[in-house]
Amino acid sequence: MVQTISALGLPEGQPKTWHSLEIVEAIADLETDLETGLNSVQIKQRLAEFGANELTAKKSKPWWWKFLLQFNQPLLIILLGAGLVKAISGSFVNAGVIWGVTTTNAIIGFIQESKAEGAIAALAKAITTETTVIRDGKKSRIQSQELVPGDIVLLTSGDKVPADLRLVQVRNLQVDESALTGESVAVEKDTRALKTDTPLAERKNMAYAGGFVTFGQAMGIVVATGNATETGRISQLMERHTDLSTPLTRKFDKFSRNWLRVVLGLATLTFVAGLSYKNLQEALEAAVTLIVSAIPEGLPAVVTVTLAIGVSRMARRHAIIRKLPAVETLGSATVVCSDKTGTLTENQMTVQAIYAGGHQYTVTGVGYAPEGEILLDDKLVNLNTEKGLQECLLAGLLCNDSHLENKNGKWVVVGDPTEGALIASAEKAGFSQSHFTKKMPRLDGIPFESDYQYMATLHKTPQGKTIYVKGSAEAILKRCTLLQKIDGQTHPIDCVETFRQTIIEREVNIMARQGLRVLAFAKKPVSNQQMTVDHEDIDTGLIFLGLQGMIDPPRESATKAVQACQEAGIQVKMITGDHAVTAQAIARRMGIHKNGSVLAFTGAELAQMDQQELAEVAEEGVVFARVAPEQKLRLVEALQSKGEIVAMTGDGVNDAPALKKADIGIAMGGAGTEVAKEAADMVLTDDNFASIEAAVEEGRAVYRNLLKAIYFILPVNGGESMTILFSVLLSRELPILSLQVLWLNMLNSITMTVPLAFEPKPQNVMKQPPRSPNEPLLSASRLKRILAISLFNWIVIFGVFEYIEYTTGNINLARTMAINSLIAGRIFYLLSISQLIPNLIAKMDGTIQENVDIPAIGFGIVGAIALQIIFAHVPLINDVFSTAPLSFQQWLFCLAVGSPMILWSAVVNKIDPPN
Ligand code: ADP
Ligand code: MG
Repeated sequence: MVQTISALGLPEGQPKTWHSLEIVEAIADLETDLETGLNSVQIKQRLAEFGANELTAKKSKPWWWKFLLQFNQPLLIILLGAGLVKAISGSFVNAGVIWGVTTTNAIIGFIQESKAEGAIAALAKAITTETTVIRDGKKSRIQSQELVPGDIVLLTSGDKVPADLRLVQVRNLQVDESALTGESVAVEKDTRALKTDTPLAERKNMAYAGGFVTFGQAMGIVVATGNATETGRISQLMERHTDLSTPLTRKFDKFSRNWLRVVLGLATLTFVAGLSYKNLQEALEAAVTLIVSAIPEGLPAVVTVTLAIGVSRMARRHAIIRKLPAVETLGSATVVCSDKTGTLTENQMTVQAIYAGGHQYTVTGVGYAPEGEILLDDKLVNLNTEKGLQECLLAGLLCNDSHLENKNGKWVVVGDPTEGALIASAEKAGFSQSHFTKKMPRLDGIPFESDYQYMATLHKTPQGKTIYVKGSAEAILKRCTLLQKIDGQTHPIDCVETFRQTIIEREVNIMARQGLRVLAFAKKPVSNQQMTVDHEDIDTGLIFLGLQGMIDPPRESATKAVQACQEAGIQVKMITGDHAVTAQAIARRMGIHKNGSVLAFTGAELAQMDQQELAEVAEEGVVFARVAPEQKLRLVEALQSKGEIVAMTGDGVNDAPALKKADIGIAMGGAGTEVAKEAADMVLTDDNFASIEAAVEEGRAVYRNLLKAIYFILPVNGGESMTILFSVLLSRELPILSLQVLWLNMLNSITMTVPLAFEPKPQNVMKQPPRSPNEPLLSASRLKRILAISLFNWIVIFGVFEYIEYTTGNINLARTMAINSLIAGRIFYLLSISQLIPNLIAKMDGTIQENVDIPAIGFGIVGAIALQIIFAHVPLINDVFSTAPLSFQQWLFCLAVGSPMILWSAVVNKIDPPN
């Protein structure tokens, strides 16, 4: 009979009080098994019944509300008001068009925003959460969506709790459940059954979905998944909205609020001036026209599009933005602090040197294939006589959480590459992992953590129980009191005290100077009663067995990226848990330096310094070795106190505070823990330093394109406003009407400006120093540029209108031609600031290879011309917008009038370079 879970006691609605059950009851209730987990039939059946382990996202704000929020911008509100003024004065068509345009604007903004939000949310989904389970008697990694009630989950520090779990085994487990309980300190867990009425925050035998394991390990049974979890029940938690504001958009908002006052002031002035010369109707039209002229209606849409394009370009280059402001901040980064292993280096480890029993061995072979030899003085060693070597290799093999697999003829590590290298070196000596793990089964273990820098395992061996330890030379050596010699005999280290200081450390340095990552090995026999191993057990009394040094070559792409960063005025600093000498050797090899030198500091040294010294050292140093995660936070703060904009990478749980504190926290998508990803602004899908450089490059390009869009759009508003103001003050007819202004500002501007967002990055983008984050939105030279171009635009509109009106007496034609001449000038201006022409020239010279992006700017220009033809030649448009058709000669006239812009913008570009 197929028994469903609901029949087993998971009543609908009311959640079961799992914390009050004994472990055996929970196991029975969920029909599972701690040893083997669920089988595939059960999993399939339960997945069908309970669905995927996902929270069905609660509808955030309804769409119409988001749409209405679009109108909540001061500039749009005055536009609506301007429409109202028109309606009251009886020009319903005008009012209708103004409102129509405002609404269109809101629709465009709404669509753009939803698209950008959607894109960011989709990217966030690309970062999936994995979890370790026991199923069908085997340990495996699965996507956490696939979990079902009854699954046996293994947790270790850095994991996100994937579902609600009843804990059945814990080792020093601490879980941060602040998201659920508001309790900010991590809670220590155990497994004892509790009273039914224990409040959520005190249920120590449970781990709830959404929590983070900050320390220790545990095993638990899944009792609830998806919406049935406690988190799922508190729906507000899931209302995850993507914030689209960035420092730039905030500067922009501030700017619009100030601008609003100016516009209202100018409008009042226009109205009063208009009244004194003309009637109320005309004064109103002039004031409304000024308002619509002065407001860059198209700009917000362009800003959002540009940021969204930046995000997707970065994603294509393996950098996924989690928080939009990072797009911009990246462009002003002055320091990048990077992990060494895996980010700057390949994390492809191969043991090349071994020191054991007083002998130095070399190891041949590449990668993880168990093919190679162990040589002593260039001769193959006889393992039987080298007892010290045997023990050292054995320690590496046993004190190990990883294994090697042959995938299509290629050997790969499943687990930690450092450990993979140790298995490979042991196998080269003929030690098989499967054989020894059976012969000397592991009873317990302390996994590797960066804070401790070692790992220990307890084994049952034919000689009695033994703890094997491996870790950094410093961590191991200070715990050793005995030393194993070549014959396998142990000698108290006391007798060779001087040796311990000199010989072993000298050996460590010999390996480190070659850039090898050094691991030290030790063991400790213990009594047969001992069943577990704890940190206290290995505090002292270890027998030193030997060292293994492995190569981890620098990534070629990272080496190039380091150069690119340094050329771009961005300092690169290496922060690592590894040995100072090793790290320095790698830094030299990669060309990381500051003013030519490669100063290295260790965590121990940093710990002695006060804030001020630390700031100096953080500035001058290049390599920070043996750094504990907490010290990363101090380093970030020290650099920030020096005014640096810091990008910092991290992957462990303890890196989270530093990632949050850094201006740009960067987590590793592959090797990173969930905690780190959650805290980061950006996640690298390939863990490669080169992707950080790529993101900085894109970040700089985005900012440039944004500025370009701004100084492309604003001169139209400038020119129009000057036109209205002067014509009213001079008591002339308005050369341009409010509806025509809207046509220009909305349709035409957007068609021509959006392509700027697609501009490729300028060639020199990584050849300039970082932009100061305090830089105002528009520098003095940018303001002058805007004024200069506005002036040109004003002369064109005013001049053409007056001239054509005077010569033809046709006011509609005069206005149409004035606007068309303005557009002609704008096309020349667009070409002068775009990358298109410089890139085409460079391409012809052969200085650049990439394809030149003609389409975007090309489409923009063709679109703008098409719009103007419609504007002048479609009868319906003629009626609504008061325009008139042009003859061919008149079109040429407009083109000719716009063409001096070529010279004008060349002068402006000289003073204020566009890139
Ligand atoms: P990083 O990733 O910056 O190179 P880690 O914090 O991973 O540094 O490692 C620091 C040191 O800890 C290494 O130099 C090595 O000696 C030791 N170590 C690294 N991985 C392991 C491991 N799996 N088991 C034991 N010791 C390790
Ligand atoms: Mg590491």
